[in-house]
Amino acid sequence: MRVLVVDDSKTMRRMIIKHLKQLGIPGIVEAADGREAIQEIVRLRKARSKLDLILTDWNMPTMTGLEFVKAVRQNGALKVPIIMITTNNTKQDVMAAIEAGIEGYITKPFTAETLRGKIIETLKKYHGLP
Ligand SMILES: [Mg+2]
Repeated sequence: MRVLVVDDSKTMRRMIIKHLKQLGIPGIVEAADGREAIQEIVRLRKARSKLDLILTDWNMPTMTGLEFVKAVRQNGALKVPIIMITTNNTKQDVMAAIEAGIEGYITKPFTAETLRGKIIETLKKYHGLP
């Protein structure tokens, strides 16, 4: 099980990673923006390492989360579910993210239950985990 955490805030990445570890997810990779995230994905593919889930922020320098989601979805070979975790919370934002190809949406600030619940739900749905 490998999860990619993308957020320009190191504090936020630490917090999300803490929850992933508490859920027993062993493989965690992180990136500070969309471009770094794509580099990580390329690196993982070269190493033939599977990626099971992406958690991404929206507002980031260099390449935003929305641009990143669109870039991942343009690559049809990569069928990994993506959850957007963001302060952007209007109906238009959610619709834009869904149109770009996300599987889940969490607004900041979120509770531990919301984060864990959405991660578990998504992993179950896409990977049939217990
Ligand atoms: Mg941000």
